[in-house]
Amino acid sequence: MSAQTAIHLNSLKKTFTDEVVLGGIDLSIDDGEFCVVIGPSGCGKSTLLKCIAGISDPDDGEIQLREERTADVPPQDRDVGLVFQEFEETLFPHKTVEENIAFGLKQKSEQLSDEQITDRIDEMLDLLAISHTKSSYPDELSGGQQQRVELARQLVRDCDITLFDDPLADLDYKLQKRMEIEMRRFHEETGGTYLYVTHNQDQALELADKLVVMNEGIIEQVGTPDEVYNNPTNAFVGRFVGDSNILVGEVSEQEGSNLRIDTAIGRVVTSDTLEQPSDQSEGVVLIRPEDVVIGDGAAECRNSVDAVIEGWTYTGELTEYSISVVDLDTELQVVKPGRPDTTKNRTETTIGFSPDDAQFFQQMSGTGNMDVTDVLEAEQ
Ligand code: ADP
Ligand code: MG
Repeated sequence: MSAQTAIHLNSLKKTFTDEVVLGGIDLSIDDGEFCVVIGPSGCGKSTLLKCIAGISDPDDGEIQLREERTADVPPQDRDVGLVFQEFEETLFPHKTVEENIAFGLKQKSEQLSDEQITDRIDEMLDLLAISHTKSSYPDELSGGQQQRVELARQLVRDCDITLFDDPLADLDYKLQKRMEIEMRRFHEETGGTYLYVTHNQDQALELADKLVVMNEGIIEQVGTPDEVYNNPTNAFVGRFVGDSNILVGEVSEQEGSNLRIDTAIGRVVTSDTLEQPSDQSEGVVLIRPEDVVIGDGAAECRNSVDAVIEGWTYTGELTEYSISVVDLDTELQVVKPGRPDTTKNRTETTIGFSPDDAQFFQQMSGTGNMDVTDVLEAEQ
């Protein structure tokens, strides 16, 4: 038997004045799945969550929750938790942290004793590392603490469907990393369905069972993080998810599954293409930073070019190199495990990459209105 569908969206549309914010969204999320939505700001992520929670009405299309249509179900009867992005507006200013969290619990149909409520609140505060704020009021807390109270309010309700609108955005890096592990653990323990919006691509790749890339009110791609990272359907997705090097070029020749592309660093051979472009058509070649060879072995790669290491940063695990190539106006980013061999900057070297690691895209985006410049300039 296939898993039950927790959330099903069919051609969901929403327009504000004359701006199309959701342009016909189709999406299915299985029961118990951790689905992450990522996309540039303003692409419609929050609107999507608000429609599912019932606090914004779609203009057209259908939403099913637990395989039932929601058209006439008011928000309070949908049994869906929503962690708001605008948490400053949703916390009760005259209630303490404890009272704010208890409010969510008391809304549940299931009757809990006062002792059970206190226990669950204490457990949640402990998990989110804000036990000491229990008797404080929201305006006495930092943004990151307020955000965790908002998160606690929904997690404690333990709904079988919870929607999260960038719930870790205001936390510092270390806390964010720790909370990511807690989110994952929480999800595993409760077995609930999570629909989770973030602008943070590392977080998206780490947390998602299913990753959804949105752009200008449409879905560009749905897949596992690996599928989206390794096989993006178009240049926008490749550029938006993960780091990448982009070479703008024109198709000069096709040879079986290989394409020869004229770029600023010369003729590049790519083999990993989804498309069958015509000669002279413009597009971009995408190469991941970890797929570029530096120094030894680079000259033997099918694609290789003289380069200069302009600088590097050692992150404790990896080294990120910044590399310039004659005639290319942007520097290439290359990532290698371990420390660099050389400590000098401006070291001359050779870089190379295999055709298998160079993906050519003629299609810039599924929106139909992005060109090469838009993709290069897209927010990341
Ligand atoms: P995201 O969460 O991806 O940043 P939103 O869903 O918040 O995007 O917004 C998408 C677009 O819809 C934006 O251009 C935003 O200005 C517009 N928008 C959102 N809510 C409203 C509203 N209540 N009235 C008018 N425009 C809105
Ligand atoms: Mg938003």
